[in-house]
Amino acid sequence: MNSTPSYDVCIIGAGVAGAAMAAYLGKNGKKVVVIEKSLAEMDRILGELLQPGGVQMLKKMGLEHCLENIDAQPVVGYGMFLDGKSFQIGYQAKEKGLTGFGFRNGKFVQNLRAYMQSIPNITVIEATAQSLIEEGGIVKGVNYTNHEDIPVQLTARITIVCDGALSIFRQQLSASEKKITGYFLGLVLENCILPYPNHGHVIMSGTSPILLYPITSTGTRALIDFQGDQAPRMGEELKQHLLNKIGAVIPESAKPSYINAVNAGKYKVFPNHRLPAHPVLKKGVVLLGDSLNMRHPLTGGGMTAAFSDSYNLGNCLLEVKDWWNAKEIELAVKKFYDTKTTQTASINILADALYGVMTSQDLKEACYSYLMQGGLKASEPVSILSVLSRDKEMLQRHFFAVAFHGAGNIMRSKSGGGKIKRSYRMIKDAIHIISPLLLHERPTWLMKSLLKVGKKVFR
Ligand SMILES: Cc1cc2nc3c(=O)[nH]c(=O)nc-3n(C[C@H](O)[C@H](O)[C@H](O)COP(=O)(O)OP(=O)(O)OC[C@H]3O[C@@H](n4cnc5c(N)ncnc54)[C@H](O)[C@@H]3O)c2cc1C
Repeated sequence: MNSTPSYDVCIIGAGVAGAAMAAYLGKNGKKVVVIEKSLAEMDRILGELLQPGGVQMLKKMGLEHCLENIDAQPVVGYGMFLDGKSFQIGYQAKEKGLTGFGFRNGKFVQNLRAYMQSIPNITVIEATAQSLIEEGGIVKGVNYTNHEDIPVQLTARITIVCDGALSIFRQQLSASEKKITGYFLGLVLENCILPYPNHGHVIMSGTSPILLYPITSTGTRALIDFQGDQAPRMGEELKQHLLNKIGAVIPESAKPSYINAVNAGKYKVFPNHRLPAHPVLKKGVVLLGDSLNMRHPLTGGGMTAAFSDSYNLGNCLLEVKDWWNAKEIELAVKKFYDTKTTQTASINILADALYGVMTSQDLKEACYSYLMQGGLKASEPVSILSVLSRDKEMLQRHFFAVAFHGAGNIMRSKSGGGKIKRSYRMIKDAIHIISPLLLHERPTWLMKSLLKVGKKVFR
């Protein structure tokens, strides 16, 4: 093989992470080739609520214009629902006019791709990457087959793998295994009247959480969680479950549109994954986006994490002075992996911790009642959810405060015996939910010791 790489950077996958990464490096002068298996607009149920922290990252990369002309809807906060009660919390961004946005994922990705394709030093090839080219333990590029069925090799100084949740390259480049944590069934509700317009709605009633948020001026996305590692089976039984069990907890104003959508039967189902970021450092290649790291989509943090990583990796690579020096590129990748946790730990921990909370009735009630107190008890957790803050310690503090608040509520309640046992069990559940999540995100020595003690006391 010719030893002179044709490109500075080869990117596999032009989804949320890959298209943003290509655009950021391309507009900063790098010669980039992108290989994407289909450039057609995708119709998916994922990646449709971008938190304000993600909008900030797009701005930093000069890509916020990609939110324009797609009928994107501003999202200014969250409505929380539990057992017939509800309240609303605003994002309270310090930056004037900063909101989140709801949109159709396919439309947004097409905007990112169109911008990427308008940059002269970016080449885009529509094909499926099949394998990495490796020589002497160093990745030199990608093999793919073109439209005439001829095998082609693309070579670059660094290959960035962004082939998404179902990545075929992750196996060689990651030490952690993805775990299915459940499924989201998605519906689009037409002309739905949301109780809190321009808000994300988290319905905590029932056995599994439900999300509602606007994605166009007439469309609202509904995502309904199904626990376990088996996808819900399509058919009459599922339809009845959606109409009766789930329908019973949908807010009244949204019900007519919800029932119409269920009767129309246009459901889509996608698995939710958890994948802690444990990359294997290999020369010439780096993982990015869902191929590197996934968390539960309950908090809508995936795209913000992907953009934060794209910005961080982009800056590490743009600091490289000599692109002929493979060692310098390797150090840039190492720096990205080493610093990643400062940007994405709070997003990852919150998503899976909150999903864990949803599985316990006592913790759910504690969480609802804690946030409802308002003040810093609402605004700080929401600043983590919106990714306007990435303060992991603050998140830990509020998480444990929720459990102790709930225990206090139980002890003060008029209900009969077993209060101590219930409170103890709730704190134990909280520790068991958050411990593995914190341990995956480079905890301090003190945090490790506290978790050890906590687990011993609350066995
Ligand atoms: C049900 C669900 C709902 C979600 N909702 C939200 C939300 O509201 N907000 C949020 O921020 N996040 C959400 N997420 C997470 C978010 O969608 C992802 O984190 C984000 O899309 C990751 O971007 P990515 O670029 O890594 O992957 P993708 O956006 O999936 O892009 C991968 C790209 O790689 C291409 N590709 C794959 N294999 C190859 C190959 N071999 N060769 C060439 N190209 C290839 C694909 O065609 C695709 O274009 C949700 C996730 C799920 C599962």
